[in-house]
Amino acid sequence: MEKIKARYKRLISDARILIVDDEPINCEIMQHMLGELYHVSSVHSGQDAIDACLSQKPDLILLDVVMKGMDGLETCRLIKSNEEIQHIPIIFITGVQDEQQEADCWDAGAVDFVAKPVNGVELRNRVRAHLTHKLQTDLLLNLSYVDKLTGAYNRHFLDDVIPKLEKQSKRSHSLVSVLMIDIDWFKLYNDHFGHLQGDECLHQVADSIVDVLKRPTDMLVRFGGEEFLGLLVDTDKQGAMHVAQNILEKIKQTNIDHPKSDFSRITLSIGVATYNDQNTQTTLFDVIQEADKLLYKAKSAGRNQALG
Ligand code: GH3
Ligand code: MG
Ligand code: MG
Repeated sequence: MEKIKARYKRLISDARILIVDDEPINCEIMQHMLGELYHVSSVHSGQDAIDACLSQKPDLILLDVVMKGMDGLETCRLIKSNEEIQHIPIIFITGVQDEQQEADCWDAGAVDFVAKPVNGVELRNRVRAHLTHKLQTDLLLNLSYVDKLTGAYNRHFLDDVIPKLEKQSKRSHSLVSVLMIDIDWFKLYNDHFGHLQGDECLHQVADSIVDVLKRPTDMLVRFGGEEFLGLLVDTDKQGAMHVAQNILEKIKQTNIDHPKSDFSRITLSIGVATYNDQNTQTTLFDVIQEADKLLYKAKSAGRNQALG
């Protein structure tokens, strides 16, 4: 569990902060106050803020209330109504000490206020408090998404991530490839070595697959008992087949003894399919089913192989 916790725990020094203010000088001042502690970027309009939230997924937003065009309140409401980014905490930077405006900011979904002119010590303390809370919440959410035996994501995570991946893929016209991965002759392995060693083997297989999935956006889900689903964002079929071959090679190197298999070691069969590949009618769920069919073709064709 400690190992799993460590995998999902993000350090506060890696946190990303987005500053939104239509006066570049105000952004520069706050950037100067926070830049040595966190990764800070800034934009100068509400629309740019929403775009930056979607593309950069910051951990905290510092948002000016009065801005030309879309003001801070409207920007905040739009961010809070978008499922993909509504969890990002927003601190308003406000020059007006007005009770009604303050009430409007709370209603729009703010977590806090900092008054202008901004005091560096106050800003740093408030930012640290909210970032700590945000990262702890992220950690708990991540742990609720993790399968304890293998450290891979669980089905609950898959249910939540599928609609997000579909939206993201449609928005950026990018591909998502899926690998349906199943251990060969695993029932015989359990029968021979017992369930506990079977569990240990599952853990080792998951670790080996995760070692191959190098991009930060790659995800491994425990789909069923001894079935895993790899999700590869921004990866075409050819790239996904390459990853699948690397997984087979890695499992070969891991070399887990399996006396009841024709290969005398643990092997995998993999089905590979790609979402948003010309046909936009299909859903990601359809593509997972397609990968599942290809997995069973790989089984019939002799196991220990990937088919796409
Ligand atoms: P195939 O090559 O066709 O995939 O054969 P298989 O034996 O791997 O497939 P089958 O679906 O017949 O059996 C899957 C086995 O996986 C059944 C069960 O013993 C084992 N299994 C599923 N979940 C777990 C688990 O959490 N721990 C352990 N130890 N075994 C599990
Ligand atoms: Mg199997
Ligand atoms: Mg199976």
